[in-house]
Amino acid sequence: MPGPVRSEAIVLRSLRYGEADRILHLYTPHHGRVGAIAKGVRRARSRFGGRLEPFFRLRLILHQGRGELLTVTAADTVNGHPRLREDALALDAAARACDAVARLFETSEAHPGVFNLLCHELALLDGDPAAATRANALAFRLKLLLAAGLAPQLGACASCGEGEHLVGFSGAAGGVVCAACEAGSFPLDEEAHSFMVAALARPLTEAPAGEGAPLGQVERAIAATLEHHAHVQLIPAASGVQSAR
Ligand SMILES: [Zn+2]
Repeated sequence: MPGPVRSEAIVLRSLRYGEADRILHLYTPHHGRVGAIAKGVRRARSRFGGRLEPFFRLRLILHQGRGELLTVTAADTVNGHPRLREDALALDAAARACDAVARLFETSEAHPGVFNLLCHELALLDGDPAAATRANALAFRLKLLLAAGLAPQLGACASCGEGEHLVGFSGAAGGVVCAACEAGSFPLDEEAHSFMVAALARPLTEAPAGEGAPLGQVERAIAATLEHHAHVQLIPAASGVQSAR
């Protein structure tokens, strides 16, 4: 990346560094995941103010420094998501969403769709903190799978193509499997299957609702897909409290 670079970014993580600096983990539309340092941030008169915090959507100017970290020289707020910060569950959901993006998209490869998806999720949680449900978190993860090219096959058996009697899910096969191919799979009920189909087809704001056991199967299906095809493990999609919402 030849600097200076102007880019929007979401702050995934913000770590204290030295006396007054911060190391930022950023997600950008065209440079993927980027590490940057912002100097003097923690001084009272820093020009950055308090905007280099997690979940801020920023417009940045980044310069190539020594080593791998870029240097932040200017930062404007596009959206600080202030309401999200006032609700513990929404804040927790935002952290889990950012963590999932960080783990699944850890390179500088451009995925503008992932950036937009994360912006939508943070805006949704900010607009209505009660949206921080397990169903929302799983719909977000399914869309991340789609963006990563790992969307599970849900229309027919992923092993043999059979269109009916789809009873299980297999991470190795990459989707739902029929009764004849169910070896090595785990049960996926109709409700869980419908949730996945609807979550992938609809915008995040219209993601289906869901509850307990079916959502547990959905989360397991996502985990199995990521484990087999990306060797990535995510933290649970929701806290115990969110799961009960
Ligand atoms: Zn089959």
